[in-house]
Amino acid sequence: MNNTIMPRSSIWIGSAQRTHEHIAALLHETICGCSQDVCAEKELLFDKQHKQVMYIRPSAETYRMADIDAFLHRISCVGACATYCIIEHADRMPSLCAHAFLTLLEEPPQQYYFLLLGEHKHLFLPTIVSRATVFDSGVDGCCDENYQLFVDEFTQLLMIDREKRITSVEVFEQLLATNKIDISSIKNIIDALIDRMTMYGASPAVLNKLFLLYDKMPMPGGSEAFLRYVYLVI
Ligand SMILES: [Zn+2]
Repeated sequence: MNNTIMPRSSIWIGSAQRTHEHIAALLHETICGCSQDVCAEKELLFDKQHKQVMYIRPSAETYRMADIDAFLHRISCVGACATYCIIEHADRMPSLCAHAFLTLLEEPPQQYYFLLLGEHKHLFLPTIVSRATVFDSGVDGCCDENYQLFVDEFTQLLMIDREKRITSVEVFEQLLATNKIDISSIKNIIDALIDRMTMYGASPAVLNKLFLLYDKMPMPGGSEAFLRYVYLVI
């Protein structure tokens, strides 16, 4: 067993599926070390069933203190062999939870490795980022320039307060009419929106609503209706 390739604390930025595959392959190399295509350990890792790997996820849209407490309780006894804790959606930690987590990373219990997964690096506590090795696979593709402009204008509309919003509906419809957004770009647009809205200081409640949109991807041909929905719900 060779643990040198896995840092004690690491942050993995990227889409959940891609990150999972990447980490499963890395853990297979670390825990098993064989190079066979068919391997029982490898299968367990890819199925998230390996006994040396612990998966932690938020019980709601974001982590709650109870989730963190339960996790701290689980790792309070020292295991006989290395345990890898995979913290899914670690970028959805309110500040109280993130600080509790930081305390853990400052004095990690022996034998434990912490892998924090998330899609957005800027949503991690900077003090957590500075304590971890960051692997950033980036977001799939990138908004092209036309979409950047669209996202900029859309962000500004969304940041206008509620009352003014009423008079901005026409502006929004105009924006939709002049930018034909392809369905395949919707995910990139939401990524970019979250980036911009964070930059402009949108509240955590608003950012959470944006995260929820990832589960509501539009049907083919429905990009306009989807963007209208985004406009109304944010
Ligand atoms: Zn193997």
